[in-house]
Amino acid sequence: MQNGKRGVGSSIIVLLLLLAFMMPADASQYYINELLEANPPPQVLKEGPVVRVKQPGVQKQTPDEGSTEVEEEKPLRKVALTFDDGPEAHYTSRILDILQVEGVSATFFVVGEFVARYPKLVQRMYDDGHLIANHSHTHGDLSLLTNEEIIALELAPTSRAVEKLTGFYPMIMRPPYGSLRDDSVRYLKENGWKIVRWSLDTFDWDSRRNKPEQIITRIQTQHHPGAIVLMHCNGPATTRVLPDIIKTLRELGYQFVTVTQL
Ligand SMILES: [Zn+2]
Repeated sequence: MQNGKRGVGSSIIVLLLLLAFMMPADASQYYINELLEANPPPQVLKEGPVVRVKQPGVQKQTPDEGSTEVEEEKPLRKVALTFDDGPEAHYTSRILDILQVEGVSATFFVVGEFVARYPKLVQRMYDDGHLIANHSHTHGDLSLLTNEEIIALELAPTSRAVEKLTGFYPMIMRPPYGSLRDDSVRYLKENGWKIVRWSLDTFDWDSRRNKPEQIITRIQTQHHPGAIVLMHCNGPATTRVLPDIIKTLRELGYQFVTVTQL
């Protein structure tokens, strides 16, 4: 009997030893799982860049962290939409409607003669939060004028007309056709004027190459941070393609600002 008891006792001891031997294996597996949960490996999405799997515990400690690293790493890209030659009767209000619906701020380089003709549109540009800038009074070639004439005959009358309507006196100008002598550039700068040209021409003014798909392709291939996009107030092509231009640039990660905010 004693042998029998001893036999049962030995079996229990062997069983306990076996259990004791197995425990560390289970515990270490559990530990590895815990580590994996705390530090998950990077996950690669099929159609996107590498993102880190969310860590709820870590996120609680850093509430300012964005939802994914992709958003955090996206550089801030700004672009300025600019509209020349307005205001005019047919398309300018439609452009303003589109910008309003999209919540986009833009810059309007206005022509003085048209400011006097369409004061309500200038007022609306200002009230909608757009920047109004100077595109001369008569849309003439400024390279044919003396420096004094450029200011007295072309720039000052336009800015005065804008100021009369809005209280804002523009000191930013874009020469019609981009035409300005070097000595005039220096003279205008010395007199406090900022000259803004453009870096991306949509060619919305050119009927041979202003089909919507041509303009969108130009945007897709020539966009860059800080781009100044040239468009015009007075053409049907611009109003047709503007919603798609805004959509395309948004998808590329751009924020819309005025030329002074670039
Ligand atoms: Zn122009």
